[in-house]
Amino acid sequence: MMRAAYAVKLGGEDPLANLEIGERPVPQPGPGEARVRVRAVSLNHHDLWTLRGVAGAPIELPRILGCEAAAVVDAYGPDRPTGSPDPGAEVVLYPVVTCGRCTACLGPDETLCREFGMLSDKVDGTLAEYVVLPAANLLPKPALLSDAETACLGTTFLTGYRMLFTRGRVRPGDSVLIPGASGGLSTALIQMAKAAGCTVIVTSRDQAKRQAALAIGANHALETARGSSRQVLALTGGRGVDAVMESVGEPTWGESLRSVRPGGVIVVSGATGGPNPPADLARVFWRQISVVGSTMGTRDEMLATVRFVEAAQIRPVIDESFPLEQAHAALARMQAGRHTGKIIVTV
Ligand SMILES: [Zn+2]
Repeated sequence: MMRAAYAVKLGGEDPLANLEIGERPVPQPGPGEARVRVRAVSLNHHDLWTLRGVAGAPIELPRILGCEAAAVVDAYGPDRPTGSPDPGAEVVLYPVVTCGRCTACLGPDETLCREFGMLSDKVDGTLAEYVVLPAANLLPKPALLSDAETACLGTTFLTGYRMLFTRGRVRPGDSVLIPGASGGLSTALIQMAKAAGCTVIVTSRDQAKRQAALAIGANHALETARGSSRQVLALTGGRGVDAVMESVGEPTWGESLRSVRPGGVIVVSGATGGPNPPADLARVFWRQISVVGSTMGTRDEMLATVRFVEAAQIRPVIDESFPLEQAHAALARMQAGRHTGKIIVTV
């Protein structure tokens, strides 16, 4: 048996009460699969959404939570793929699980697979001593990074990489607006956009979070209030930013639309503040703004993310680390939303 943090119920008044910490069977790898020993996990809003019962896929209970992790290869099932890292190797997990057979999976973008899911959706996640996943999902850990820092790459940095460079087509010299600069994704976006040679503008209600954003490389940190777009226009010579990285939704959408330049792009990867803001379609078509969605990333993008983080010597921002037995406290901290950077659970 092994220690793990898993959902035993979904939904209800107190989602964190749906999480139990206890013993689960050690999973056995099947053909083409690997078992890894987890060292560090970084939490995501996805974990809270699962407990709230609003994650996309139907969840079978009990379900071990946790999407991303730094780990060590423990064992393989039958048919170990050639070139897979040897037992004992330090790895970072690519957390996307797809069917592997459809045209999306066999083509260039497996994130469009109809069976797209993450670790902790249809299969058990990483908040456990061991996790089993396809051997192809193991990537070498960057030597420069600690286990906690490595655990931020699989979801947070991968999501940010695809938002900026694939979906947003951001290039060196562009200006990028990141509304609501505080959580793990925002700090990853700031660090990567800065390293790519962009001018980075962030907004936040919180003075300490604005200071933290400036400390990791944001060029400008604006107070969130009606009218922050006027300051964005002033900072960009009246033009507006080339790209906006939206993950907040209702509270920031209007200002995002007013902050982007004609022909610019708004990349949407989340709506933590609500999914249905007024669309303001007249502004969208008249100013020819592109609004594009982005979810996670491909395995190739994950490899590129790891190489980019290594080459740019980016150190992911860690908020606080908790042992597995304190997973409730770790999730409560994320739920409260007062953190800066990633919340880590060590196993
Ligand atoms: Zn597929």
